[in-house]
Amino acid sequence: MALKTPDQYIQSIADLRLRIYLFGEPVEDYTTHPIIRPSLDCMAMTYELARLPEYESLMLATSHLTGEKVNRFTHIHQSVEDLVRKVKMQRLLGQRTGSCFQRCVGMDALNAVYSVTYETDQAEGTGYHERFRSFVRDVQERDLTVDGAMTDPKGDRGLPPHRQPDPDMYVHVVERRDDGIVVRGAKAHQTGACNSHEVLVMPTIAMREGDEDYAVCFSTPANAEGILYIYGRQSCDTRKIERSELDVGNRRFGGQEALMVFDDVFVPWERVYLDGELAFTGPLVERFAGYHRQSYGGCKVGVGDVLIGASALAAEYNGVAGASHIKDKLVEMNQLNETLFSCGIACSAEGHRTAAGNYQSDLLLSNVCKQNVTRYPYEIARLAEDIAGGLMVTMPSEADFSDEEVGPIVRKYFAGGCDAPTMDRMRVLRLIENLTLGSAAVGYRTESMHGAGSPQAQRIMIARQSNLDHKKELAKVLAGVGEELPTTCPGQHEVAAVAD
Ligand code: SF4
Ligand code: FE
Repeated sequence: MALKTPDQYIQSIADLRLRIYLFGEPVEDYTTHPIIRPSLDCMAMTYELARLPEYESLMLATSHLTGEKVNRFTHIHQSVEDLVRKVKMQRLLGQRTGSCFQRCVGMDALNAVYSVTYETDQAEGTGYHERFRSFVRDVQERDLTVDGAMTDPKGDRGLPPHRQPDPDMYVHVVERRDDGIVVRGAKAHQTGACNSHEVLVMPTIAMREGDEDYAVCFSTPANAEGILYIYGRQSCDTRKIERSELDVGNRRFGGQEALMVFDDVFVPWERVYLDGELAFTGPLVERFAGYHRQSYGGCKVGVGDVLIGASALAAEYNGVAGASHIKDKLVEMNQLNETLFSCGIACSAEGHRTAAGNYQSDLLLSNVCKQNVTRYPYEIARLAEDIAGGLMVTMPSEADFSDEEVGPIVRKYFAGGCDAPTMDRMRVLRLIENLTLGSAAVGYRTESMHGAGSPQAQRIMIARQSNLDHKKELAKVLAGVGEELPTTCPGQHEVAAVAD
């Protein structure tokens, strides 16, 4: 078993010497940069918890390729139980980080590409699956973090990839050589991009005739020549530069998204898993989206647990924990949060075995899960803000609380209604701010809306998967649609007689 320690993981990311831009400048020591480091520490939690015996059944799994214990984030699901444990693991990590811990996109991509390469080979006589298995084995043996990369910039959404005025709006093959392919384009909003060892690139939509150069799936080391990362901003991110413990809200962790640019990157054939197979792009997108929509029934629930806990503490510190409307709001928050968890568990429990032998979450229920995630965290956040009160966005800075002159004044006036120290009250309010409006809100709110596909993408899948024809048949049978009415209804004469 070659599990990395958190320190080994962080050092291995530093060793990649990635090309990262932030605020218009290259970042040399990105693993120590105050804006980037919390996201790296957050990812490192996927390594740290995997080393703790109490979490072994959630964090580790037995590889079907090597028979060794591997981190579940590198595992190819072998049963429904694996799918369920995946969601529970994500809830645990959400609870422990209060943030997006980023490693799931790779796990979801590994599982989607695994089954699609198998089916492509069966249909087309290609040899992708064996190549892919060797990649997965390498990932497992070295305990690597893989960044699943799906979302292209897309340019004009009304045009297919090959008709875009700028052909680079979707990642595509610009050259095919004896030893491999050369690719160009970009992937946007890439979660954990600068914290990953490998990138697994997939098409972003179902491709049609003419899009052959865009129907490409491959993996590449994150530091391959020609790859550039432009780091995304998050709300309140410069508070991390201030190195203020109070004002960041979450002292240790954060998420990360970046624009990943492929400027003529060479990929050897042994790392190419689809090239021109148009018919398999749709299933790949659907399966990856299904897994990632399942994931949200775990990670967002864990972060929701933190937000509910912070709201309950804020109520206590304000001296209103006993108020019936507060208790009711906390019940409402829990009910919404556990509904999301129920969806995550349900789509896992209803998962099925693919032809390749791994397990896929139920696509209809995965999409229902994510559709609910586009709504309930907003309602939970609204209730949290209601309970927290306006002070969460008007309170002074840490510098004021620490100041010799005004410190005692603000501590006096912001004391709460119970014996809790003023500063504990302030800390909890800042955490709620972080989760609902600050940098963690990227992961908890906007990502709940757009991550793993925007709401309309789920509605399309729900429409496709919900089998309306079957439901119409059920109704027809009960109503007797299409059957002639009997010429004389039973009892008709008696009714007529009474009427006379
Ligand atoms: Fe994992 Fe959730 Fe972040 Fe996606 S949004 S990478 S599922 S923590
Ligand atoms: Fe996400």
